Amino acid sequence: MNASSDFSVAIAGAGLSGLCLAQYLMRAGIDVHVYERDSGPFVRRQGYRIILNRYGLEALRESLPRPLYRLALTTGDEPGGHLRFTDSRLRDAFTVNLKDEPHATRQVDRLTLRSILQSGLDGRIHYGRAAVAVDSGGPAGLRLRFADGGAAPATVVVGADGVGSALRRQIMPDAEPANTPMVGIYGRSPLWRNGASVIPEALRTSGVLAIADRPGRAFFFTSMRFGESPQQAFARLAPGSYAPTGDDYVMWALLLRQEEVPIDVRGSLRALWKQAAVMSTDFHPLIRRLVDTAELDATVLNVFATGQRPHRWAVPRATMMGDAVHVMPPFGAHGGNTALRDAALLGHKLVAARENGTPVEEAIAGYQDEMVPYAFRAVDTAARLMRRLTGGAAAPHWVLTRVLPRLHRVTVPEA
Ligand SMILES: Cc1cc2nc3c(=O)[nH]c(=O)nc-3n(C[C@H](O)[C@H](O)[C@H](O)COP(=O)(O)OP(=O)(O)OC[C@H]3O[C@@H](n4cnc5c(N)ncnc54)[C@H](O)[C@@H]3O)c2cc1C
Repeated sequence: MNASSDFSVAIAGAGLSGLCLAQYLMRAGIDVHVYERDSGPFVRRQGYRIILNRYGLEALRESLPRPLYRLALTTGDEPGGHLRFTDSRLRDAFTVNLKDEPHATRQVDRLTLRSILQSGLDGRIHYGRAAVAVDSGGPAGLRLRFADGGAAPATVVVGADGVGSALRRQIMPDAEPANTPMVGIYGRSPLWRNGASVIPEALRTSGVLAIADRPGRAFFFTSMRFGESPQQAFARLAPGSYAPTGDDYVMWALLLRQEEVPIDVRGSLRALWKQAAVMSTDFHPLIRRLVDTAELDATVLNVFATGQRPHRWAVPRATMMGDAVHVMPPFGAHGGNTALRDAALLGHKLVAARENGTPVEEAIAGYQDEMVPYAFRAVDTAARLMRRLTGGAAAPHWVLTRVLPRLHRVTVPEA
């Protein structure tokens, strides 16, 4: 690759992977711009927390300036904890322990992470610019085209525009995601009520998946406690960047079959929340209270899909990252981590190519050859976990909901 300063990268999508790649390239002195469909940085509630595993943390460590990486760790929840699989009355079936080393798996608030990833990218993120296509031509070799009729020239174009990607059909023509039978209604409720935590001490550091007696239904919840308040930590480590409020919360998701959320329910937050309330009546009272106390405007419907392996990359010097390539059901917390891993890998390949004089096409092919195997291993794992935990197969469901819980004590007595 030519080391000249006219080498430039245009990224479609200012989500986790797009912003992470922009950080990586900017630190290496590469001219990078991010084009985002939303009209501003915080127009949508980015609600929720995200579990970062070693791949996500390593990608952030490689991509971010040191103070921003520290900011992600210090505002995150404490490392480690447990993932509990229970029956609908919160009786344990089995538990997975997460390591609690300083750099091990931890939860971070997604809005806070997005704010961290945006820090220092002033003038490089362009809002209200929905990418629609990429074509060859122009001074840099490629042009990213927008819905408003404009275009941006770039040597390399990266589609990081998420599950509904507008660029996918053109760049990976044989890889439209496939639907799954499942959806999730996601919600968020305050963690503190009258000075006390709504989550009992026994579950303080646990994510819990409660599997219903009826196959195809489950409820997930976990609390997000900010390590250090974002306001304080941003003032110290990224002064001037937007700091989210940092109120601790419980994130929850009711997992259902698609047909249980009719189309007319999908367009209204209130209708979605009501559906969640009706469908969770058979669960433990703690779960019902979480739904009852939800913040209505944080309700989200997520239709689970699985990405398909791309066999052909159709536009030279254009590639894709994250959910746009390998969307997966949210089992195992791999989606965001894999998206961040892609960003650091692609950043590394592009920077190395510039230093070694390798052709950019070769750098991109190297990224794609490494990314597809690890990303689709994660897709397969997530899809398998979804089938095992919420599928209709009678024997595993019976073991999870009838046999294993009888062997354990009651974790949260029903008041
Ligand atoms: C409730 C919930 C909880 C989750 N928890 C976890 C977890 O614990 N761990 C984990 O690893 N993953 C988790 N995930 C998955 C994770 O959030 C995604 O895998 C991750 O955000 C994908 O990153 P991305 O960069 O590919 O896309 P996104 O972060 O979705 O970003 C895509 C961006 O592109 C923009 N865009 C869309 N179309 C266009 C266009 N045409 N032009 C320009 N911009 C466009 C969008 O507005 C968006 O900003 C969770 C997901 C949800 C919904």
